[in-house]
Amino acid sequence: MKNITVIGAGTMGNGIAHVFAQNGFKVDLVDVSEAALEKGLATITKNLDRMIAKERITESEKSETLGNITSLTNLKSGVENSDLVVEAATENIDLKLKIFKDLDTLSDTRTILATNTSSISITQIAAVTKRPEKVIGMHFMNPVPIMKLVEIIRGYSTSDETTEAIMDLSEKLGKTPTEVNDYPGFVANRILMPMINEAIETLHHGVAGVMEIDTVMKLGMAHPMGPLQLADFIGLDVCLSILNVMYDGFKNPKYAPSPLLVNMVTAGKFGVKSGEGFYDYSESRKAEKISFQFKK
Ligand code: NAD
Repeated sequence: MKNITVIGAGTMGNGIAHVFAQNGFKVDLVDVSEAALEKGLATITKNLDRMIAKERITESEKSETLGNITSLTNLKSGVENSDLVVEAATENIDLKLKIFKDLDTLSDTRTILATNTSSISITQIAAVTKRPEKVIGMHFMNPVPIMKLVEIIRGYSTSDETTEAIMDLSEKLGKTPTEVNDYPGFVANRILMPMINEAIETLHHGVAGVMEIDTVMKLGMAHPMGPLQLADFIGLDVCLSILNVMYDGFKNPKYAPSPLLVNMVTAGKFGVKSGEGFYDYSESRKAEKISFQFKK
């Protein structure tokens, strides 16, 4: 595999493009929004500069990485030479089904179609294509350039050949791929999201404040960041979508999203990406912005 297409230049898409490009792959980064592409490329540049500052890469590696990325809004041109498409567009089932229908028509029949979805059924996405054996979940973690795990999700019809190709490719990116089966939330979010939801309910019921809840989980459970801060980083809209998929998929009230989460998303408070969630990330209140370090 040499030519990779990444669909969506948001939080995850720009990180996925960054990692492929830094490992020598040619990347077409496709988004419907020019502004999202600009912001995505600016984020990649900023993250590469941070790596230079930490002496983990050189200036010329930065230029090579950026030189490997082409950004575009036209899906057809973005996929025509693609060996692998990694879709990282907004977490919305109708949108993903439409994108995969289009991808199936526009890309070569040999192209593997992967999705970075956090929770939507790979089997359902694969079913709208004529190549379900070549459809797979490739679930990167946020922030992609730092986090080692890629959860590899086999849909009902995903072939061994496709799975092996994606496991090998993930290792080439320096990641640790882990194979799981296709059930709502897979493994990562089936365990993580009920914890985040419970933290939001704990806040909602006034048991403790934002900082207190996060401090208990950080210092008490040795988590690198508290669940409310993590929710802000993931995106509250993304958390809500994932919980809804699990709630619908299992028909079990234990996955019902907290009404506070629903309210915040309805009010446009999406966390880091909108400037406000459980914490304030706006420019004017930058001093209050929470910063954290990932362990290397
Ligand atoms: P985001 O909202 O930051 O970015 C989504 C991007 O998709 C936007 O730039 C939007 O313009 C673009 N988009 C929408 N429709 C499109 C289309 N038809 N074609 C091309 N681009 C389109 O979302 P995100 O957080 O990056 O999430 C993307 C995917 O990754 C979702 O499926 C999400 O569940 C998954 N994911 C997110 C996280 C996380 O921490 N945010 C972690 C793992 C997986």
